[in-house]
Parts: sequence; structure tokens; C-alpha cells
Amino acid sequence: MEIFKPMNLQKESQNINIENVEKVGCLIIGSGPAGYTAAIYASRANLNPVLYTGLQMGGQLTTTTDVENYPGYPGGVTGPEMMEDFKKQAERFGADIRFGIATAADFSGRPHKVTIDDNKLILADAVIIATGATAKYLGIEAEKKYAGMGVSACATCDGFFYRGKDVAVVGGGDTAAEEATYLSGLCRKVFLIVRRNVLRASKAMQQKVLNTPNIEILWEHQVLDLFGENGVEGVTLVKKKGTPQEDIVKLKIDGFFLAIGHTPNSDIFKNYIETDPVGYIKTVPGTSKTNVPGVFAAGDVQDPHYRQAVTAAGSGCQAAIDAERYLSGLK
Ligand SMILES: Cc1cc2nc3c(=O)[nH]c(=O)nc-3n(C[C@H](O)[C@H](O)[C@H](O)COP(=O)(O)OP(=O)(O)OC[C@H]3O[C@@H](n4cnc5c(N)ncnc54)[C@H](O)[C@@H]3O)c2cc1C
Repeated sequence: MEIFKPMNLQKESQNINIENVEKVGCLIIGSGPAGYTAAIYASRANLNPVLYTGLQMGGQLTTTTDVENYPGYPGGVTGPEMMEDFKKQAERFGADIRFGIATAADFSGRPHKVTIDDNKLILADAVIIATGATAKYLGIEAEKKYAGMGVSACATCDGFFYRGKDVAVVGGGDTAAEEATYLSGLCRKVFLIVRRNVLRASKAMQQKVLNTPNIEILWEHQVLDLFGENGVEGVTLVKKKGTPQEDIVKLKIDGFFLAIGHTPNSDIFKNYIETDPVGYIKTVPGTSKTNVPGVFAAGDVQDPHYRQAVTAAGSGCQAAIDAERYLSGLK
């Protein structure tokens, strides 16, 4: 049996059976709002897109209950329902949606090469990367126990549910300062839990936090655990850990917000695609174009600033239009 040996794949030892090589016009990687929106537009433009969903079919929103800020759902909608609607809409126009994970990429020549599940090679004229970003968590058991019951990694998404209540934000960088400031406009009290005795946030953001009366910074505090019967009712902290002044502090709160950063899911593309130091894919401002012609990026994987479903969907639309224009230029 003939064996195809893809060149320059990160997993060089990989041999892919020639029967497992497929040529497509437009490949979309990821099934969040960005990927599905790209699939809707690409299908309607007759690009016959093939979309690989990745492990998390429907993306991050499938891990949440209420989505109240996506336009078009006046009564709100659950994340999984909304993503099912996105999928159905893409399928209605003929998008070929498949379960599979992109495990390697080679953008050194044309067509572009993407390996799926380590055993199938897709040759694509245009590739849209919509692999999202993953919020970082502290890694304590309680984060899982109270997921959707008081623990959140997105103040813009969930802050509204804590109007007039007391919340805590964990982190000391710009994101934490921004999230705390945002929540201070909604909540009665915001505790900012900072591990060190300084903030890493920009001077301007620090000033904002320090000048906001209902934000209290808890310097040199670390999170040990969360407690509560049917949701988060409080957080247990250790103060000045490892010093003679070490102390255990219990704080009553209604919501617990992680703001310790995100990891963009861009690792397998980094040999070819320019990213910022965190790993967010760089795009030409106002477009979805990456540094490689024919490779486009949409959604959270290229967005360190907004990370919302509606912005991800908007950039998925841009990516499909950019891909369509690129492909028509190849003819
Ligand atoms: C708990 C929670 C609640 C939220 N609530 C809201 C809200 O109320 N409103 C709002 O606007 N936003 C909300 N967000 C943010 C919103 O979910 C994201 O901004 C949005 O989902 C980003 O869309 P995306 O398409 O870029 O990526 P994602 O939704 O992250 O989707 C990424 C997709 O890429 C796939 N993927 C990753 N790696 C690979 C690979 N190697 N191969 C193939 N596929 C891959 C994944 O399986 C997934 O399908 C929330 C986020 C979370 C975590």
C-alpha cells in the first residue's frame, strides 16, 4: 500500500495512508461561534467548507448555562442550545461538519496541509483557524464543583448576574484590573485577590482600581478553597503564606471571577503563523489575514481584547469573506 509522507509536519515520524488524504477548498478548524459563522458564510458563498469541530463541539459556550448578551435571543438562551442553532444553520447551507482534531499543520507551501487525528491529511487552498482560547484556572477542585454556580472566567459574560452582590476577582494583571473595574459598576463590593504585594497591571489600570471606592485589594492573599451549599457563598484565603504573619481568612462572597489569563489554542500553527508573546494569532488589523496567504484566523484565538461570542461570530464572517476573495483570486 502506498504511503504518503507529509513534509515538514511537526510529527515527522507520521506516515499517512494515501487513501487518507483529501483535497478541499476551504477548511475551517473549530466549532465555536467563529468557526460555525465562517461555515455559514463560506457555504453560502459556495466554498463547500469542511469544518472539524475539535474535542469541544460548539466551543466554550457549551460550558455555560445562560447567554443573555447575544443579539437575536430576547429571552436569553442556553449556551449549548445556541451553539446547536449555529450548527444547524451552517448545515442548512451544506457545510460538511465533522468530528476531529487538527493535530499538526504545515503552511510552508500550497496547498496548505493540516493533519486530522494524526491519521488523515487535509490539503486545503484556504484554512480558517477558529480554535478559540482557554481560560486559565487555579486548578483547585472547587472551581469544577462550582462551575456555573458562582465561578466564572468572564466578567463581561456573567457580571450582570451579580448586580448588587459581593464578588472576588483573582489576578494582578491588566485583565484582573479590567474585570474588577467592570464589576465595580455592577456589584456592591469587589475584592481583588492579589498573590503579590504589587499589581502587574499598567499604571493607568492600577490607578483606576485604586481610585474605585468599592474595590478592595487583598494583597498577598492566595486562594485555598471555595465554600457554599448550593453555590459559592465564600472563599477561603491564606494571607502572607510562608511568613510568620501567615493567616487563614474566610470571606463571604456570591461570585468568584478568575482573571489570570487565557491560553490561545494556537500551538500547532506556531511554526508558520505569527503570534504575540502569549500565543494569540496576529492578524492584519481590520481583517482575518495572518502572515501566511490563504490562512485566516477568527475568534478568540486572535483576540486578546474582547473574547465574546458576538465578536467571535463577527470575525468568523470576516474570515469567510476574506477566504472567498482569496480563493477567487487563485482562479
Ligand atoms: C463559561 C463561559 C461563559 C461565557 N459566556 C459568554 C456569554 O454569556 N456571552 C458571550 O458573548 N461570551 C461568553 N463567553 C465567551 C465565549 O464563549 C467566547 O468568546 C467564544 O466562544 C469564542 O468563540 P470561538 O469560536 O473563537 O472559540 P471557542 O468557542 O473557544 O471554540 C473553539 C473551538 O475550536 C475547537 N478546537 C480547538 N482546538 C482544536 C483543534 N486542534 N482541532 C480542531 N478543533 C479545535 C474547539 O473544539 C472548539 O470547538 C463565555 C465563555 C465561557 C468559558
